[in-house]
Amino acid sequence: MSSHPIRRRALFQVAGAAAVGAALTPWAGVPAFAANKKLYLDPGHGGTDSGAVGNGLQEKALTLNIALQIRDILLADYSGIDIRMSRTTDATVSLQQRTDDANAWGADIFISVHINSGGGTGFESYRYLTTDSATLALHNAMHSNALAGMRTVAGVTDRGMKTANFHVLRETTMPAILTENMFIDTVADANLLKNAAFLTADARGHAKGIASYLGLPPKSTGYSTIVDNATAGRFTASANWATSTYSTQRYGADYRYANPVLASDAAWFKVNIPAAGNYKVETWYPAVAGYNTATPFVVAAAGGNQTIVVDQSTGGGAWRSLGTFALAAGDYNVVGVSRWTSAAGYVIADAVRVTQV
Ligand SMILES: [Zn+2]
Repeated sequence: MSSHPIRRRALFQVAGAAAVGAALTPWAGVPAFAANKKLYLDPGHGGTDSGAVGNGLQEKALTLNIALQIRDILLADYSGIDIRMSRTTDATVSLQQRTDDANAWGADIFISVHINSGGGTGFESYRYLTTDSATLALHNAMHSNALAGMRTVAGVTDRGMKTANFHVLRETTMPAILTENMFIDTVADANLLKNAAFLTADARGHAKGIASYLGLPPKSTGYSTIVDNATAGRFTASANWATSTYSTQRYGADYRYANPVLASDAAWFKVNIPAAGNYKVETWYPAVAGYNTATPFVVAAAGGNQTIVVDQSTGGGAWRSLGTFALAAGDYNVVGVSRWTSAAGYVIADAVRVTQV
């Protein structure tokens, strides 16, 4: 469980938002903050109620797996959301307890996750019999995104958007949707439900639907920078590194090259890393058949330099990932191209891109 929802509610108390639903009046000079959206997430069944069973699977375990992933994805990838769950373990919780809890908490939306049974295949989703426009909008967002998520892994039959007089749809006071994710008693569907990648894709689809309906801002660190060999003050190389425009795969006007030698004599790309954290580091170079097949790239990672060997005879003219590295904050030489390789052919220093992840 994340402590985030509790912390957020504590902030509300401090700010003196007396009544639920009351407009927040910002104090003079204190910027107002928007209230977090409240998702009530309901993994179907649990405890003494296994739900449907088949092909060695139990519905209650699958719904908990998917729902916990939905929660984790939303908290990792989006801002402005509080999540409460009807259960986070294999607990017995009645339908009445679930809807009472969601109503008392004042959830903005209610999402219930189930696995189908009874013979059939594919995905379907439900809203209550009579439907307001908000519920219909939520239903559209959940159905299309969950289906699209699952379809990133496998073909899934669309059984459609349906209505039903289910307790959790009827007794909730907010827009509520129930998803039925494949058939546990159909072998082909059960095989997908045994596939971790499929469950994650399904959860990701649900998360996307929720984020889309609630208008959640994606968490983005935003920081990304490109340093070219021509970027002023950010590239250093000895006079042994010559300049070329030979390959049209170059980044920018030109690039630098040098013969391999058993000494580093590295060309360095300097980056102003805004904060300690994980960064994806990529390089761009023009590839020519005769260029070096084992060029050592050096990344000045927080735990010490790391060397990544790149074949520059191929794969040029595009960003190539060197990996994701923990980098310290500060303005320093982050990526170096070393000449120290026993492979033949020019080593190339053209451009790097560093992106916070
Ligand atoms: Zn069920």
